[in-house]
Amino acid sequence: MRSITNSLWSQSGRYSSHGELYPDRDIWLLPEEKVILTCTLEIFDQAREYYGRPLKINSGRRSQKYQDLLTKKGYRTAKYSPHVLGAALDVDVPDDMTDVDLAKLLRDSAAALSYRVPRIGYLQYRGDQGSSSFVHFDCAWNLPSETLSKLPLNVITAYTMEGLTW
Ligand SMILES: [Zn+2]
Repeated sequence: MRSITNSLWSQSGRYSSHGELYPDRDIWLLPEEKVILTCTLEIFDQAREYYGRPLKINSGRRSQKYQDLLTKKGYRTAKYSPHVLGAALDVDVPDDMTDVDLAKLLRDSAAALSYRVPRIGYLQYRGDQGSSSFVHFDCAWNLPSETLSKLPLNVITAYTMEGLTW
């Protein structure tokens, strides 16, 4: 049964469970933060359906407190993270794929659903081995205008662009 509604926000998707979208380690998430943009979930679910094998989410929605903790620990984190706003998912690159393959799968999945091209990031996460171990994607352009209007102009501009992030 399809659990996705026609609304902007969803708690879980067709093939994505609550636990993987809001990791246990994020004990600071407020109940009202436990939603993710429906378009982000639908694109991910479509990618899982096309791929037909496990695709692991390594980061979903984060609270601002968890984001601040990551920053304090020295991770490269964005000041205005689409993860905190509920627009983004990070997906592990499976063994039989490269980051480029996974990015294409996500773009194809968005196109199949007639969504705009998602914002996708992986080049900035690449190490020596060539392929990033995960791909970030988000639909930050679909955040409600009242959320976008609270952000600095350069962030709004970046959020409303499609294609590669950074
Ligand atoms: Zn990410």
